[in-house]
Amino acid sequence: MSDAPREGFPAAPRSGVPSVLWPALLPDLQSKLLAIEFQLEQSEWWTEAELREHQLQQLGGLLAHAHATVPFYGSALPAAGYRPGEPLTPEVWARLPILDRATLQARPDALASRAIPPSHGPVAELRIDRGQGPVHLRITEVAQLMRLAIFLREQVWHRRDLSGLRAVLQPDEKAAFPAGRREPHWGWPMGILYETGPQTVLDRRTPLGQQVEWLQRESPVHLVGNPAELLALARECLALGVTLPGLEGVQSLGGGLSPEARDACREAWGVPVVHLYRAEEVGPLALQCPEHEHFHVQCEQALVEVLDGEGRPCAAGEVGRVVATPLGNFATPLIRYDVGDTAEVGAPCPCRRGLPVLAKILPRDPSP
Ligand SMILES: [Zn+2]
Repeated sequence: MSDAPREGFPAAPRSGVPSVLWPALLPDLQSKLLAIEFQLEQSEWWTEAELREHQLQQLGGLLAHAHATVPFYGSALPAAGYRPGEPLTPEVWARLPILDRATLQARPDALASRAIPPSHGPVAELRIDRGQGPVHLRITEVAQLMRLAIFLREQVWHRRDLSGLRAVLQPDEKAAFPAGRREPHWGWPMGILYETGPQTVLDRRTPLGQQVEWLQRESPVHLVGNPAELLALARECLALGVTLPGLEGVQSLGGGLSPEARDACREAWGVPVVHLYRAEEVGPLALQCPEHEHFHVQCEQALVEVLDGEGRPCAAGEVGRVVATPLGNFATPLIRYDVGDTAEVGAPCPCRRGLPVLAKILPRDPSP
């Protein structure tokens, strides 16, 4: 892959009209997704103050909706000094309570909106289990699109070769060893929008030795997994002397990525790791900068706060807990949700994007 900077994405999208291949005319959801991505390509260059102003405007609407239609927030917001109709200021915001995971787990119904705007599209139920018992929440199509747009931006920033085979480790009962599950393309968003190579999926509960066997057999160009399993896989390959000559890059998805995991992937396979920080309750929160190993907060998808022990925002160089508010989910609005992660705030990035920087996100799982 070339490191030379290129403008635009090096592929035309798939058209939804058979006789008009190019420029493509896309079906409804794909059109919306690219329309969001078009805006993201502008807003990533806004200043932090401009981004914050737009966030506050959107959060004002979210709070008014939550106050009016979500039983939990109908009482919790006024108790914290929120007055509907008054402009939302950073001072008002800072007084709002933090929502912890235990409350979401115990009271999913109290946190669900009684009147989701029909324009937000169909609503899906998410069941999320990060090892501490499941939580349930509802998500609108609009909120799903916002999440997908960030995954699309990640691909645009990191410019992978779309023609290659992608190997994905994920929880998937239909992707058992040895065959795994084959798909003709990379799925949402890339494989739906663009022509891509095929994808092979393996259930992440497969024993490590069999994962290595699968990888060797499939010989992928891209490998996708969570930080802990990538570290384990790289160490296993190092121990066995297994190299993956076709591999060009590793995409890591999840909580923090340890320096050990980056080093192990480089050592085992000679490739870089690009990490995407997400939590399923709140979606993708930060992407690795295209030019550096730190992360840009995804302000258009969520407000991400890093708070110290006193609940105050951390300055650059300080470490605190991550609290996130997805801007677009009006089905189960999560306001100031404590994600359960710890991050270090970074200084503004030399790449000149205005999206705030997280210098690092601490690994969620203890390193094996
Ligand atoms: Zn940057």
